[in-house]
Amino acid sequence: MSTAAKYKLADFETFHNVINNELTATAKTRRAIDPSTEQALAEVPVSTQEDVDRAVAAAQAAFPSWRDLSQDDRASYLNKFVDSIVAYQQEFAQLLGKEAGKPPQAVGIELFLLSHQIRQTLNFRLTEEQIEDTDERSIVLRYVPIGVGVGIVPWNFPMLLGIIKLVSALLVGNTFIWKPSPYSPYTALKLGELGAMIFPKGVFNVLSGEEDLGPMLTAHPGVAKISFTGSVATGKKVMQACASTLKRVSLELGGNDVAIILPDADLAITVPKVATMAYLHSGQVCFCIKRIYVHEDIYDAFLAAFVEFVKSLKSGGPADAEAALGPVQNSMQYAKLLDMYSQVSKQGWKVAHGGEPSSSKTNSGFFLPPTVIDNPPEDSRLVVEEQFGPIVPLLKWSDEEDVLRRANASLMGLGGSVWSKDVKRAERLTRRLEAGTVWVNSHFEVGPQVGFGGHKSSGIGVESGLDGLKGWCNAQAVWVKK
Ligand code: NAD
Repeated sequence: MSTAAKYKLADFETFHNVINNELTATAKTRRAIDPSTEQALAEVPVSTQEDVDRAVAAAQAAFPSWRDLSQDDRASYLNKFVDSIVAYQQEFAQLLGKEAGKPPQAVGIELFLLSHQIRQTLNFRLTEEQIEDTDERSIVLRYVPIGVGVGIVPWNFPMLLGIIKLVSALLVGNTFIWKPSPYSPYTALKLGELGAMIFPKGVFNVLSGEEDLGPMLTAHPGVAKISFTGSVATGKKVMQACASTLKRVSLELGGNDVAIILPDADLAITVPKVATMAYLHSGQVCFCIKRIYVHEDIYDAFLAAFVEFVKSLKSGGPADAEAALGPVQNSMQYAKLLDMYSQVSKQGWKVAHGGEPSSSKTNSGFFLPPTVIDNPPEDSRLVVEEQFGPIVPLLKWSDEEDVLRRANASLMGLGGSVWSKDVKRAERLTRRLEAGTVWVNSHFEVGPQVGFGGHKSSGIGVESGLDGLKGWCNAQAVWVKK
């Protein structure tokens, strides 16, 4: 264990719910699966309605005094929290590698983004806006916290995506309940234990459970806001459930991001970047490039270089420092992807690299071969759906208007990028993409300084930046007659 840790965790092997700063057990427990070995991991709690009620009551009781602290005071608690995570960096890295199926390189990316995100966000302050100030009256717009917030988190970035919600919610004065995915509950529960030593009682609670836990939280009348990250299908259910109590809701949902490669793109620079951002975490990232449209003049050269690069990506588990790609995170996603891979022979897609895994799976772990599909039909499932795995289509284009139409045909609109030496032309095209974040000669770059969120079915609301903080508040207009 790290010697620098000021707040001491008993171990990284036993796991409890954290309610009102107490570590609590549940009658029933369950185990998640290590996706690299398919072995069962440690037991975690299965929360009941009673646990949910207690966590909500604790967070409600903690709210008034937490709300009434200054932003600086709340930031100082959060700074202690990030220091304590950094002190346990090694232990969190190992746990994250096991639960998420991330090799050390991918773990490093998540941990770096996490501490960067917290530290930068803690520099922000929401200030009152003077709308009018005359001899007769003043009007001020201020942002007040909402109450008890719940963060519902998926399994692809089990720490980072919850931390973004937690830090934003707490900094502006809400209290918080973190609900990790049943597939990856371990790091969140340990973060809760650390938090219990740092924050006042009830400010930060963590509940682990099964698939009925999310609905218990979205239905609870004591919860004021749900911040959800996950699939489009679940996002719709969350929004429906929140309607009955008129909860605030933000939704960060799936994506089917395009990269459009213009004919003048520098292949030596572009190919490694595009391929890296297509296969990052084996394609299991909302902002991964999921459709690559390459101009016909350079299509063959791009495809050949792309395949060469993908061949160099080594797959391996959390102990393999050389590995770029880990397994698919869970059996449900693995089964979905096997079905997508089976379309290769069923639909006659042309495989440029990889292909369907052999049917006699003997290796342990949910590993799938990184696969490149050469110009499948535009209406194929691989182009229309979010594959969320290491199988990626390259598609040909020749007409600028046509490629924009194809890019924007998706129901999703999370991100998109255009790649060219002509930055002005590329920027002109990116601005016509229907997506919440667009890049020129880059992709996946997100940061604490600016909100990110989806257009169309990719979500509602933003996280990060000042707008992300405002999403955790009610606006209040104060009119004063002088
Ligand atoms: P999911 O929707 O299956 O689950 C997400 C979370 O919701 C889990 O914690 C799950 O337990 C919970 N949940 C399930 N049913 C619920 C219900 N009825 N009510 C409340 N909560 C419920 O998604 P997933 O498979 O864990 O994650 C993959 C998806 O997440 C992909 O589509 C990906 O693109 C998306 N994602 C989006 C972003 C983003 O920022 N836009 C980031 C990461 C992942």
